[in-house]
Amino acid sequence: MSAATARPLREIRIDAEALRHNVATLKPLVAPALTMVVVKADAYGHGALVAARAALGGGADWLGTADLDEALALRAAGIRAPLLAWLHGPDTDFGPAAEAGVDVGVSSLDQLERAAAAGATVHLKFDTGLSRNGIQADDAPAVIARVAELQRDAGLRVRGVFSHLSGTSPEEDLAQLARFELAVAALAEAGVHPELRHLAASAAAIALPATRLDLVRIGIASYGLSPDPRVPVDVLGLRPVMEVSAGIAHVKRVPAGEGVSYGYIHRTAAPTTLALVPLGYADGVPRSASGGASVAIDGVRHPVVGRIAMDQFVVDVGDAPVAVGDRAVLWGDPATGAPSAEDWADAAGTIDYEIVTRVGGRAARTVV
Ligand code: PLP
Repeated sequence: MSAATARPLREIRIDAEALRHNVATLKPLVAPALTMVVVKADAYGHGALVAARAALGGGADWLGTADLDEALALRAAGIRAPLLAWLHGPDTDFGPAAEAGVDVGVSSLDQLERAAAAGATVHLKFDTGLSRNGIQADDAPAVIARVAELQRDAGLRVRGVFSHLSGTSPEEDLAQLARFELAVAALAEAGVHPELRHLAASAAAIALPATRLDLVRIGIASYGLSPDPRVPVDVLGLRPVMEVSAGIAHVKRVPAGEGVSYGYIHRTAAPTTLALVPLGYADGVPRSASGGASVAIDGVRHPVVGRIAMDQFVVDVGDAPVAVGDRAVLWGDPATGAPSAEDWADAAGTIDYEIVTRVGGRAARTVV
């Protein structure tokens, strides 16, 4: 069996060493702030447990998730590191968080009461301008008064205070930092002194040092991807962790003028060779990237032509000697000649976060 056929037909390859390297590179950059690696949404599609272990291997101090269930699953799998979960429903039971030693972000008086009653350790989340969850400025005095009361009378442990930036511009992020500092000052006045103030995600942690405070919550950059085209991460030496590829399933020579895939949005301009890649939108390859994306075969880029279908799409390889079983890399490490997740995001009119988070379907995961 050749090396090409030994690999799964459709493969999401996770380079755990690259993730470890990325975290080990980011940690000194943000120090003395602590590093939380965000592993929500199955670690942005990279695999939560694999990512958690690699992140801790790279020196992550904390791990963060959105849902409490995501954090509890990591605990159940043996992850002992400090964990924070911050997005809860009205029925979320904070008892298991307290039992498992998972800290919870609280964004309202109701969540505060329930977390305190369950004995969970909390990080208070303030809305400083993103208009998602978090305590609003109008509600802050009442919530802070209640926090002080629960801390004094009911043993409430407030370990953190945090917010999340909109990333609109450095000026806007700094205005949100100023609002955050007002909330921290109001807590201090009420006798509440959380040891961890945290605000920055990848973009601000890298590009806006004033926002690093006591801890940064880094998601996308850990996976070697840019949070924003304005904040490139390859210059920091970060490496993409995910490579998505498939073995070519069919190759055919066609004349000029041949229509390709549904609706003929593409016709061949000259005699050429078409290669069929057995990955489609059922596997999370965005249909909206039809006509704009490319793949690498043997380190050479070839354009995706025609509509991306549910299970497959077509690549025009020209006169390249491409054969069935050759590997087509959709996205991976540009240093190998592969397109990046950002390239696919550009073609699809979205962001790299969505590209890596949605891929899956029938593709096998391999950890190297
Ligand atoms: N903090 C919070 C509250 C988040 O929701 C996220 C992700 O959206 C992050 C941190 C990590 O963001 P990024 O992946 O941009 O580093």
